[in-house]
Amino acid sequence: MTIVAISPAARPHVHLIDHPLVQHKLTLMRKKEASTNSFRSLLNELSSLMAYEVTRDMATQDVQIETPLEVMQAKMIDGKKLVFVSILRAGNGILDGMLSVVPGARVGHIGLYRDHETLQAVEYYFKMPKEMESRDVVVVDPMLATGNSAVAAITRIKQCKPKSIKFMCLLTAPVGINTLHEAHPDVEIYTAAIDRELNEHGYILPGLGDAGDRIFGTQ
Ligand code: URA
Repeated sequence: MTIVAISPAARPHVHLIDHPLVQHKLTLMRKKEASTNSFRSLLNELSSLMAYEVTRDMATQDVQIETPLEVMQAKMIDGKKLVFVSILRAGNGILDGMLSVVPGARVGHIGLYRDHETLQAVEYYFKMPKEMESRDVVVVDPMLATGNSAVAAITRIKQCKPKSIKFMCLLTAPVGINTLHEAHPDVEIYTAAIDRELNEHGYILPGLGDAGDRIFGTQ
């Protein structure tokens, strides 16, 4: 397969989270001998670390509180305004870690499969919180490979007109970034690594294998 580069237009929209803790945990997850149990708990830890970066520019509001010594104006986020949308099924592996950092966030789910004849993404499940117009969305899927499901999921979520959409994954490759950016140039992409390429089956190389199988032990 030809190795492609990230397009210059997409590059500024990619946030590579290269914190040593994130990189360390990702390396442990990549190892083929990692058990389902440790893969899942590393994914939990990694997702909450990544949530720090993804929520860095979240709006805060000043609230009046009393410390034991005096009254002050302090900052708080409105977690309810944030929606984490999991692309089924591997996206579910990221939710717990994100929710441990923003417990008030709402959660949406989208399920898509690829029709083998038309090659189009077909939706089989879609459930979002109400009043999406006032919410900021983070779409999560561990692997941004071809980018086709991310593009289809985001196209569908945009019908609910959320205030903003970000996309968070653990691993991607240039082709996935380019495809997602071309279809949705307004969506910022957060990832812990950008790998070399996809193989002929659409798997990321060197990658970590099938994320869903490794999370749920279904290999
Ligand atoms: N989905 C996966 O689970 N792994 C890949 O490498 C690509 C897509």
